[in-house]
Amino acid sequence: MERNNIDWSNLGFGYIQTELRYVSNYKDGQWDQGGLTKDATVTMNECAGVLQYAQTCFEGLKAYTTADGRIVCFRPDLNAARMIDSCLQLKMPPFPEERFLDAVRQTVKANAHWVPPYGSGASLYIRPYMFGSNPVIGVKPATEYQFRLFVTPVGPYFKGGVKPLTVRISDLDRAAPRGTGHIKAGLNYAMSLYNIVDAHEQGYDENIYVDSATRTYIEETGGANIIFITKDGKLVTPKSDTILPSITRRSIVQVAKDYLGMEVEERPVALSEIDQFAECGLCGTAAVISPVGKIVDHGREIIFPSGMNDMGPVTKKLYDTLRDIQMGKITSPDGWIMEIL
Ligand SMILES: *Cc1c(COP(=O)(O)O)cnc(C)c1O
Repeated sequence: MERNNIDWSNLGFGYIQTELRYVSNYKDGQWDQGGLTKDATVTMNECAGVLQYAQTCFEGLKAYTTADGRIVCFRPDLNAARMIDSCLQLKMPPFPEERFLDAVRQTVKANAHWVPPYGSGASLYIRPYMFGSNPVIGVKPATEYQFRLFVTPVGPYFKGGVKPLTVRISDLDRAAPRGTGHIKAGLNYAMSLYNIVDAHEQGYDENIYVDSATRTYIEETGGANIIFITKDGKLVTPKSDTILPSITRRSIVQVAKDYLGMEVEERPVALSEIDQFAECGLCGTAAVISPVGKIVDHGREIIFPSGMNDMGPVTKKLYDTLRDIQMGKITSPDGWIMEIL
């Protein structure tokens, strides 16, 4: 296979159009056969459900080249399952898991020359999504939907080295109790835009949201779950019904227990206790783990002992172990790696 001639290590995180994407349409109560298309444009009625009432959800995962040259994906079955949960909550027809995996395989294979080589730090980002496509003016679910999946190459997350983040405790809320915080819906991102732009203007990298009912417990950022490391080396991660169940976080928990023999606590984490932790990180598909150096809570500044120059030592061990599993350098738990080519 010929790869595209690209400076992979200097790619950023932006949309680069690739040749083929997967499309399937839902009509009259069923999904059509689906397939690849060259057409990167979506044409739909001006009154489409997604345009009027934001009936849409998405997923995000990556394909990459392992140390021994295979092209693989990391736990795509969990993305398929999570998308089904998102669909059910938004009254959209779930796209079956087997078909989701087939769409991933077909699209990555068809764009294999866009998968960055091992060692570049870059990867092929995969974006599955679904939206209501027929006209809806009264508030109700659409009856026609489109499932699409495209891929776009993205550069290494830590270009020019790791730089711990400075994050603030947000005054605005992300998710209501019994709301939609636990699903990957576009609407959760639309409502976060005001706050993330404001955070950047104020010099912060991210917003940490607290539980909106009591504003006393840590939840997550706009697009990543949070892990903490205690001074005696335990992994602590917030547990809440309004957090999006990150596949990276769930994998880190298992790696901590089964590979590193760490104790793990999944429990509510109070805002008042975060100055007791030794390390903090944000986890998601994009970076695996980005270290947090400083949390600012309205004048109260918490600078973690790991500091503003490096990933904390335990965070680093978790990061390296999960990366090694992904890259096929150490044996992965059963079913974590889906081989594509
Ligand atoms: C996608 C997402 C994450 C990260 O999930 P991964 O499966 O690890 O990529 C975390 N929080 C929110 C709100 C998200 O949308």
